[in-house]
Amino acid sequence: MPAVPEQVQDPTVPWSEVLRRRVYLTALAFGVPVLLMVWVLQLGESRPDPYVLYAHPLLLIMCAWAVGWLLRGRPLRVAEQVVFACNVTAVLAQSLFTALTPGAPILDLSSSTYWMLVALSILAFLMFGTRRAGLLTAVNYLLCVAFPWAALLARGEGSLAANTSLLRVQLTCAAILILLFGLAWYRARFLQERSERLTLFHLAHTDPLTGLPNRRALYPAVDGLLVATPQGKAGSVILLDLDHFKRINDTYGHNVGDDVLIYTAALLRSALRDSDTVGRWGGEEFLITLPDTDTLGATRVAQRLRRLMHNTAQPPVGQVTASLGVATCEPGDDLRVLTARADAAMYEAKQQGRNRVVVAHRDAFAEPGLLSPPTLTLWGEEVG
Ligand code: GH3
Ligand code: MG
Ligand code: MG
Repeated sequence: MPAVPEQVQDPTVPWSEVLRRRVYLTALAFGVPVLLMVWVLQLGESRPDPYVLYAHPLLLIMCAWAVGWLLRGRPLRVAEQVVFACNVTAVLAQSLFTALTPGAPILDLSSSTYWMLVALSILAFLMFGTRRAGLLTAVNYLLCVAFPWAALLARGEGSLAANTSLLRVQLTCAAILILLFGLAWYRARFLQERSERLTLFHLAHTDPLTGLPNRRALYPAVDGLLVATPQGKAGSVILLDLDHFKRINDTYGHNVGDDVLIYTAALLRSALRDSDTVGRWGGEEFLITLPDTDTLGATRVAQRLRRLMHNTAQPPVGQVTASLGVATCEPGDDLRVLTARADAAMYEAKQQGRNRVVVAHRDAFAEPGLLSPPTLTLWGEEVG
């Protein structure tokens, strides 16, 4: 597996930005020697191209600044905007120089402009939205097409038949730019659809009140425990039910009841390992999955959670307690059997007076056929 770059581990730096920074540094590493070489070669010419002579040193200064900026980790957006603005100016200046140089071979001098346009267009699609980048590219392209033709017309050499090579270069450039636009549009659509899919997935698996995983999202977590059991890894679940929650609703109203659920969710989440999952199983019941945790470990966790609930006052209600049932995965268990055992243990905790932990022993709650359906139907009923 490729090593994760350091910046990716910093959640404040998005991965796409790290990648872009690297792409720009690589492009600069190749671009600087090319700029330098073309400039040095021009120095030896009897009639050096004025654009190369004066613009390349300025572009080299810009590259040196950009490398320093990027290596020091300064804001990427600023570097992008400066490089983009400098290059647009350079491309238009080159096109204009060519047009204004009397007797200059228009095609020879302006053809490199079109390569630069393609590079600039890629930069624009990376920096801006598809529409804005498309618009900027179109304006640059039209100017770079118009300048040489204006010069040719001014010289009285503007016939299409006499300039088919220039026309070919310009049309090829247009085709590449249109292709780039198409790819950028497709990429934007793809990213949008992916983000919509992720949002839908998140909505389908999250309890809107507490923000915890909902019942649907808990199934794979429980399955993960069950799959690990035959490999000798103990896994346990805790079913936690708030005591006399209906009274809270009846006394303080449903909004306060909702607040208690939200607060309890945050409390439970804060007290568990990252590898544990806590989700809303339904109503005022929470299911916790504990990978790599045997009955003893799970009982300790359940006692800790019970004490935490007991000792944490939730204004305006005050003390809110819970009853917890603990069940450890046994070979041959499935989701229904395991959660039914935890439910039966939790029910037993209610029967024993609430605010306590009961552990489901395989022998005591081993009749899945007997326990599963009736226990499930008990949910939501008034007990005791
Ligand atoms: P026990 O100690 O036996 O568990 O008693 P209880 O009152 O907690 O249990 P019961 O099953 O009688 O009542 C649960 C209540 O939880 C009934 C239901 O209206 C309420 N409830 C379920 N979901 C929500 C919710 O999202 N918000 C609020 N405010 N109340 C809810
Ligand atoms: Mg309850
Ligand atoms: Mg309940």
